[in-house]
Amino acid sequence: MAKIEENAGLAGYGVCRFCGQVKYLEHPMPTQEQADEYVTKTCGCEPAKAVRRRQSEAETIQDLFAECAPTVLDLLQQVVDLLREGLLASGTSIKLEENITAKFKVKDGAVIITRSEKHQHQTSI
Ligand SMILES: [Zn+2]
Repeated sequence: MAKIEENAGLAGYGVCRFCGQVKYLEHPMPTQEQADEYVTKTCGCEPAKAVRRRQSEAETIQDLFAECAPTVLDLLQQVVDLLREGLLASGTSIKLEENITAKFKVKDGAVIITRSEKHQHQTSI
């Protein structure tokens, strides 16, 4: 096992990419880039929060529609953005496959995305 050298070459602080705030780290990071990344991820400024929200939205969309191509997932994310900006109307839906639809609703300023799946039990005899 490699022994971690004490603070040698480690980054003890990071800078937020958005607001430039400097924060000292409890646990120094191996590189300055990682330290900046960490501070940016945990910063309380608005742009950093918006990016975090966007990332968690992207993850949610990916979880819901795991089988979709990345370009389709991007489209769904764009629909969420447009709904939030009021450029699309609540109730919009996108048919992804014959029996799978992504439905979007806006409620109390939050966008709700639903995976609607129709199961047909039809048998030819
Ligand atoms: Zn910040």
